[in-house]
Amino acid sequence: MVAAQFYAAKGECNMILDLFSLKGKVAIVTGSNTGLGQGISRAFVEAGAKVAGVSRRPSTETKEMLGDGFHNVIADLGSCEVIPRVLDETLEKFGRIDILVNNAGIIKRQDSIEFSEENWDTVMAVNLKTVFFLSQAAAKQFIKQNSGGKIINIASMLSYQGGIRVPSYTASKSAVRGITMTLSNEWAKYGINVNAIAPGYMATNNTSQLRQDEERSADILARIPAGRWGTPADLEGAAVFLASAASDYVNGFTLAVDGGWLGR
Ligand code: NAP
Repeated sequence: MVAAQFYAAKGECNMILDLFSLKGKVAIVTGSNTGLGQGISRAFVEAGAKVAGVSRRPSTETKEMLGDGFHNVIADLGSCEVIPRVLDETLEKFGRIDILVNNAGIIKRQDSIEFSEENWDTVMAVNLKTVFFLSQAAAKQFIKQNSGGKIINIASMLSYQGGIRVPSYTASKSAVRGITMTLSNEWAKYGINVNAIAPGYMATNNTSQLRQDEERSADILARIPAGRWGTPADLEGAAVFLASAASDYVNGFTLAVDGGWLGR
C-alpha cells in the first residue's frame, strides 16, 4: 500500500502534505526582487514560512505581494562583507534561520577569446564566493540553534554543459554543483541538507538577451522536450520540497527542473 492510500484509509489524508509545510520556518532568499527568487519567496510564504529576501535594489513588488511574511534586506552580494548584516537583520526580524536559498546570480556574455577579467571576477563573486560564505554563515547559525537546516543553491544547465560565450557563468555554476556535494558531505551530520536546483531555460531577466536573439531562442525552444520556456512558477514545487521535511534524506543532489532539456 502506498503512503497516500495508507493515510487515506486512516482518515489522515493530509499527513503526507504536512511534510511539505514550512509553517514556523524562517528562510533567507537572495535575489528576491525579481524572477526565480521572487517566485521562491512567494511559494515559501504560501507554505507558511517567513522570508528575509536579500536584494541590492528594493524588493518593492515582492513586499507588496507578501506583506508581513516578507522582510527585505538590502545588500549587494558582490562582496562577502554584507554577510554578517544579512544574518543579523534576519535574526532581529524573525528570531531564527531554517532555510537559505542562494538564488542571486549574474551572467556575462562575451566570446571566450576576448572575455575580460572583470566579467570573470564579478560573476565568480556573486555566483560562487558569496554562495559559499553565506552557506558557511547559515550553517554556523543552524549548528548554534541545534536545529538542522536546509540550503538550496540555484545551479544551472551549465552545471552540466559548457554553454557558449559564458565561461565565468559555466565555471561558477559547475562549481556550485560541486560545493553542493562537498557541503552536504560535511554538514549532513548536523541535520543540514544541502541540495541544488538546476533550472532549465526560464523566461526571466537572466535570459532576456538570449530570448531577443531570434536564432538562438528558436534553437533552444526546439530542443526543450516540454516545448516551452520555464517560468518562476515551475520552480516553486521543487524549492518547497527541498526546503521542507519531505526532503530530509535528500543530500547533495542537484535537481533539474528543465522541461526535459538534460535528458535529451
Ligand atoms: P534575474 O531575474 O536576473 O534574477 C537574478 C537576481 O539576482 C536578481 O534579483 C538580481 O538583482 C540578483 N543579483 C544579481 N547580482 C546581485 C548582487 N550583486 N547582489 C544582490 N543581488 C544580486 O534572473 P533569474 O533567472 O531569476 O536568476 C535567478 C538564479 O537562477 C540565478 O542564479 C541564475 O543564474 C539562475 N538560473 C537562471 C536560469 C534562467 O533560465 N533564467 C537558468 C538557470 C539558472 P538585480 O535585479 O538587482 O540585478
